[in-house]
Parts: sequence; C-alpha cells; structure tokens
Amino acid sequence: MKHDAWFRCSDGCEGRWELTEIIYRCPSCDGLLEVKHDVEILKGRSSAAWMSLFDRRYMRTSWPYGSGVWGKKELVYPQLNDDNVVSIYEGGTNLFWAERLGESIGLEDLWIKQNGNGHSGSFKDLGITVLVSAVKEIMSRGADIKAVVCASTGDTSASVSAYCAAAGIPSVVLLPRNKVSQAQLIQPISNGSLTLALDTDFDGCMALVEQLSKDKRFYLANSVNPLRIEGQKCHVKSDAARCDYLPKRQDSQQYTGALRQYRDPWIGFKHLWASGLEFYRK
Ligand SMILES: [Zn+2]
Repeated sequence: MKHDAWFRCSDGCEGRWELTEIIYRCPSCDGLLEVKHDVEILKGRSSAAWMSLFDRRYMRTSWPYGSGVWGKKELVYPQLNDDNVVSIYEGGTNLFWAERLGESIGLEDLWIKQNGNGHSGSFKDLGITVLVSAVKEIMSRGADIKAVVCASTGDTSASVSAYCAAAGIPSVVLLPRNKVSQAQLIQPISNGSLTLALDTDFDGCMALVEQLSKDKRFYLANSVNPLRIEGQKCHVKSDAARCDYLPKRQDSQQYTGALRQYRDPWIGFKHLWASGLEFYRK
C-alpha cells in the first residue's frame, strides 16, 4: 500500500505535478493549485485501524509522528522522507470550554481553540511545517534554493523564520514598515531571517515576493502555496479526534468562510469525508 499525493489545478485543468516541483499556479488557467491524495489507497485501511494508528502516535517522541501534523503524515505528505521533516512538534493545541462566553451568545457547549498557543506564537505553524519540510526535501534532491521568501504582517514571518532556522535554511521576510508589532518584528530578526521593512503595505510586499519567486531559487511561502493547506487542515483532524465527533456535511457550513485560514479546516473535513475516514462520528 503506497500512499501518494500530488499537485493539480483546483479548477480541474489537466496536469499533475510532483510535490517537489517548484510550481504555484496552473500553467493553463493561472488558477491556484491543490494537493490531491490517492483516497482509494487511504480507504484501504479501516477506520478503526487509522484511529488506533493516530492514537498510538499522538504526542509521543517517535520522530516525527508525535506532531499534530506529522502523526497524520499519510493524509498530509505521505511520500516525504522522514529525515526531511522540519517540525517543532506543532499542533496538539487544546480546546477549552468557554462556558460564560457561550452563555452570553446562547450557545450551550462552546469550545474555543487558540491556534497561537504554540512554540512560535503564530497560528500559521501547521501549514509552514509542511512547506519548509517540502523545501528541505527539494534541496536534498540537489535543487539550488537560496532562500524561502514571504510577505507578512507578522504571523507568517514568525513561523517561516522559526522553521527555516530549525532546518538551517535561509529565509527572507518582506514587511510593511511600521505596520508590524514589535513583538512579531523581533521574531524573524532573532531567528536570523533577512528582514526587510518596506515603505508599502502588505500587497506591495506580496507583489515583490511574487516577482522574486519567479526565480526558482527563491521559494514562495505565502498562502498561494497549497502545501500550507495540507498542514492547516490537520486542525480539524485533531479536533474531531478530541471531540469524538465528525460533523455531517450539512452541519458544517460555518467552515466555508472566505478567508483561507477559515477555508482550510473545511478542506480538512472534506478530506476526511472523501477518504471514508468518518470513524470519529459518535
Ligand atoms: Zn487550471
């Protein structure tokens, strides 16, 4: 049973690219790419066997499977060499019961997750661990990558710089001058990123990063890169396990928000449903 995943156009154009290819958009329509998994192979393991496997790995020290992302590696980036995983054991963030807030808005059983509760303090870690691991895999195959680059107003740069520092990979961060808190500005600087404050806004920084990443030696770390979704969707996989519950599709409309950070959990649910991994439902 060989698990597999690859890039494809999210709008359905023809084409399949390896996750080690440096490509961010569909060559036919210029639309976004997504990571496609071989769900038939995923369905080859029973729901009970998946649950048992994830439970055995969770929060343990057997590298890299104690991570909230890499404990589900078969559903994230199955063919990645374990030696190239760049992880600070992200995920596993607790849910807490917000009893009084719930009462005030008429919700009887409200649970909240604060994704900034992690080593970098950034809520982007689950996606960035996948992206930087992919870069390490690409570099191990001989590609000449000089740096990982991102535009940021704080969280992306905190996370990218931390993971690149852990991997020994150079990183370049473009920030809008005077629009980033001191607490978040100090993170890429102290993590050794080349940190550039520009007289523009985030969109101005992003335009420069897109320009820079046309040179394949500079790997693009912003959310146009679909590898980040593969990590971020693990939020729902962990939460579903913790709650012993996977909602039905029709009950999950709250996850269809426009912002990508809210869309990724929705993709996580869709992935669980498509894979037949509905073992958490009570
Ligand atoms: Zn396309």
